[in-house]
Amino acid sequence: MSCISIIGSGFSGLSAACFAANAGCDVQVFEKNNMPGGRAGYFKEDRFLFESGPSWYWMPDVFEKFFNQFGKSAKDYYDLVQLDPGFQIFFKGNDCLKVPASLTELYDVFENIETGSAARLKRFLKESELKYNLGMRELVYKPAYSWREFACYDVLIGVAKSNVFKSLRSYVRSFFNDERLIALMEFPVLFLGAMPQQIPALYSLMNYAALDMGTWYPMGGMYKVVDGMHEIAASLGVDFYMNSEIKKISILEGKAAKLRTADRSFRTDAVIASADYHHVENNLLDEQYRNYTDKYWDKKTLAPSCLIFFVGVNKKIKNLIHHNLFFDADFEKHANAIYKGAQWPDNPLFYVCCPSKTDASVAPEGMENLFILVPIAPGMEDTENRRNSYFDSLIKRIEIQCSDSFADNIILKKSYCINDFEKDYNSYKGNAYGLANTLTQTAFLKPSMRNKKVKNLFYAGQLTVPGPGVPPAIISGQIAAEQALKFCNTLSYEKFI
Ligand SMILES: Cc1cc2nc3c(=O)[nH]c(=O)nc-3n(C[C@H](O)[C@H](O)[C@H](O)COP(=O)(O)OP(=O)(O)OC[C@H]3O[C@@H](n4cnc5c(N)ncnc54)[C@H](O)[C@@H]3O)c2cc1C
Repeated sequence: MSCISIIGSGFSGLSAACFAANAGCDVQVFEKNNMPGGRAGYFKEDRFLFESGPSWYWMPDVFEKFFNQFGKSAKDYYDLVQLDPGFQIFFKGNDCLKVPASLTELYDVFENIETGSAARLKRFLKESELKYNLGMRELVYKPAYSWREFACYDVLIGVAKSNVFKSLRSYVRSFFNDERLIALMEFPVLFLGAMPQQIPALYSLMNYAALDMGTWYPMGGMYKVVDGMHEIAASLGVDFYMNSEIKKISILEGKAAKLRTADRSFRTDAVIASADYHHVENNLLDEQYRNYTDKYWDKKTLAPSCLIFFVGVNKKIKNLIHHNLFFDADFEKHANAIYKGAQWPDNPLFYVCCPSKTDASVAPEGMENLFILVPIAPGMEDTENRRNSYFDSLIKRIEIQCSDSFADNIILKKSYCINDFEKDYNSYKGNAYGLANTLTQTAFLKPSMRNKKVKNLFYAGQLTVPGPGVPPAIISGQIAAEQALKFCNTLSYEKFI
């Protein structure tokens, strides 16, 4: 039986492990940390449960499809609730835009802000739905080794119709004029890690995901998804080695033959490296086996890193909901500090997740659990002083927008930033979300999923195809497993496809 080794147990590594084991391979997963999940971590302190990574559960179909392939459903592992409102955005002057779960209500919200915009939103979402279907059916479940994979009539016509060479910014502005509606329509792509003017309009498929499919929450937290995937992998016989950082991939006759930790070595027939791509290439492989040079990586647009505060508050906060975006500052200035010149931003936009509004298990009764996230450029100097210089003003802005004071009720505060991403995940420049989905970093233009010099080494995760985010990471693991299985040519491969 072939043995497939997986480096890293984030969503992409867990997904790859499940698919490879289901096809009948021996699978071993090596994880440097003491728990699976990667960037989707959590910690408990003083009866608060803080999640340290993803909090937006979008594209529920991708999660369901994953579980279905193992004869399961998401509901076998967690209760999924739709948030209503899905999220809210605070603008300057105590102006707040709530995004309802119901599309009919959303059309009313648009029409009240800008006459005629409801009809335009309908058209926008219809086009986004077509892009979503095209993207999810034809584009993302491919290894994207070459443009030829996409060279069939339906795909080419679909891509041509999806304004692939138009930026999301000009596309959105051809529909809406009001700055608040524009901000709402542009915000989902910030997850893709670049400014809307650099993101192809194809990615308005994210608007369909955000506004039409809805914003969901697995009760107990996003870690429930990790638990579910981990449970499937374990039931399929996957061996997990926690606290086992891989230090070296040993190559023999053009193939990865062994993985080495500090004190052991493990034989392997194929490797799926789901840890950060740059780390795998630069730290685990000798130079002659790397796909890319430092010069290549220097030219890449990384998605942002972030400054995070985990905050426990011993009272309930008025007017805050589960997902809150604070767009009460200048977006362009903040975006320039991230993407042009890499500087710590003055007066940045930020996001506050308050899961205790939905889930009583994440905070003691009568208290709030806050996760405050400020997107920042990766690779900057990160000091305790710098982090703390933001805290008071962020809290003040929440207090002003929510018309409620709670600064004196803060009983717990922790920060997390670039240095922690590097230390915890071997993250390149402390990036949080991998590589941005710009036009020149999409599909076959992304770092390749296969190593061109080591034929049984494949890559998965947010720095390769299809891109950053939990659903793409799950898909990435599946595609990488398919490639490794093809290499191993296991007899049970037919069962898998
Ligand atoms: C703060 C934050 C908020 C986010 N919010 C959202 C959101 O709301 N919605 C969404 O969809 N996405 C969100 N994302 C993005 C999403 O979480 C990631 O894209 C996804 O989890 C990445 O999964 P991955 O498997 O590619 O990588 P990772 O999760 O980073 O997994 C890689 C694993 O490899 C391990 N590793 C590294 N080096 C080694 C080594 N040498 N040996 C062994 N193991 C190693 C790491 O410890 C890690 O566990 C967020 C990310 C962050 C950081």
